[in-house]
Amino acid sequence: MTSLINPATGAPLADIPDSDVSDVGRAVARARGAFEEWRSATPADRARVLLRVADLVERDADALTRLEVEETGKPLPVMRDGELPFGVDNLRFFAGAARSLDGTGAGTLSAGYTSMLIRRPIGVVGSIAPWNFPLIMAIWKIGPAVAAGNAVVIKPAPQTPRSTLALVRLFEEAGAPAGLVQAVTGGAEIGSALVADPGVDMVSVTGSTRTGQAVMRGAVDGLKRVHLELGGKAPAVVFADADLSEMAAGVTMGATYNTGQDCTAATRVYVDAAVYDEAVSALEAALSRVRAGDPWDAGTDIGPLISGGHRDRVAGFIDRAVAGGARVAVGGKAPAGPGFYFPPTLVLDADQSSEIVQDEIFGPVIVVVPFRSQDEDDAVRLANDVRYGLASSIWTRDVGRALRVANRLDVGVTWINDHLPIASEAPHGGVKGSGFGKDMSQEAVGEYSVTRHLMIKHAAPAARDSFRPA
Ligand code: NAD
Repeated sequence: MTSLINPATGAPLADIPDSDVSDVGRAVARARGAFEEWRSATPADRARVLLRVADLVERDADALTRLEVEETGKPLPVMRDGELPFGVDNLRFFAGAARSLDGTGAGTLSAGYTSMLIRRPIGVVGSIAPWNFPLIMAIWKIGPAVAAGNAVVIKPAPQTPRSTLALVRLFEEAGAPAGLVQAVTGGAEIGSALVADPGVDMVSVTGSTRTGQAVMRGAVDGLKRVHLELGGKAPAVVFADADLSEMAAGVTMGATYNTGQDCTAATRVYVDAAVYDEAVSALEAALSRVRAGDPWDAGTDIGPLISGGHRDRVAGFIDRAVAGGARVAVGGKAPAGPGFYFPPTLVLDADQSSEIVQDEIFGPVIVVVPFRSQDEDDAVRLANDVRYGLASSIWTRDVGRALRVANRLDVGVTWINDHLPIASEAPHGGVKGSGFGKDMSQEAVGEYSVTRHLMIKHAAPAARDSFRPA
């Protein structure tokens, strides 16, 4: 049994039964049966189910919003007006994508034969999700897999299971074959059992880099396809010609959205040394305006962190940075009182090699580091000098510079003069320690399918000899 805690108050919310390993086996076996039916569903059938699920999510928007706000502490409007409608849009996108998957090529590649390239589903996908965007992450995992013709057993994070459990029920209500989309609950042990189950053909995980490594190891024996969306430590590179107040507003939003518990969060701000003081002042002002508070209050910008343990972890980064010579310019200390709040925090004078610059904190913390004035090479070197490679932003009025620098960053996404926006059509995923594999977009649907070559002989029998090696 896992007791859910409301992070805004610290009070218990609900008890959720944990699956055991035999439940995982049963869910996977049931998913295999559903897959046999679903693999031959037409694209139109798949799209119809996904469109119905989108409608049902809209129908249940209030209830799903409440579950998510209670479990994560994210502000009500962020969920109700932002993430939930975005999840609906994702589902509708995947419904469309299901209908443009097949028929990538046909033609005569060898004389006397016609070839077809056909995309087929992989089978049963074991999906593992994090707690920071529970509903959207479940949609990003289930949507493309189902669109491509697979069955899914998903394990939400133990802190935030309820919106995923509700979503799974909506698939059945929408007419998906029984068992096509199922959930199991629990933590790492159940996640590992799902990865190891011989009936699982592919594993997809969004989580920390360490979890991604464990999942990859667990998938080795079965040589399963692995799809990894892992941590991030996004740089924001600020050139001297940037609009610094725009930058401060955009980076602050990028760093504090979801209380910084976002793999694409703006965390390392590299500023041309010539405008360092000005940029720091603008960031101080913007961060000081962010209102942390009750997720249900209309004026709240950010809610609490997910748990007391995570808040201690975030605070530990700040304490160790200060002990190592860094300086806190804004925030830095958890307030007294109930809930796991942590204020927007600005850290200065940290070394590039220090932990606070190198490691994912997953809280509303920005570190500002200057680069040599007018030196693009120095900016690129610093921006790439971490093990992660997920997101980044560049702040400049010079289009040529923006493109030049963007092309040299080892990341999955670069925003120019903004930080954070995403769209259903655009792939989301990283390189290096941020993993590989794309969520959203047609590419995600492709990741959950395999290209088959079908070759049809139509030459007269006599022609056959010409294909034999001499
Ligand atoms: P986590 O790695 O602790 O857990 C993620 C999920 O993996 C949970 O469901 C957890 O129970 C499960 N898990 C943990 N150990 C496992 C194991 N050994 N085998 C199988 N499953 C296991 O991450 P979290 O704390 O829930 O989420 C935060 C992390 O997720 C951050 O690192 C963040 O950057 C990352 N994240 C990445 C993206 C992305 O798209 N790249 C998006 C959101 C979050």
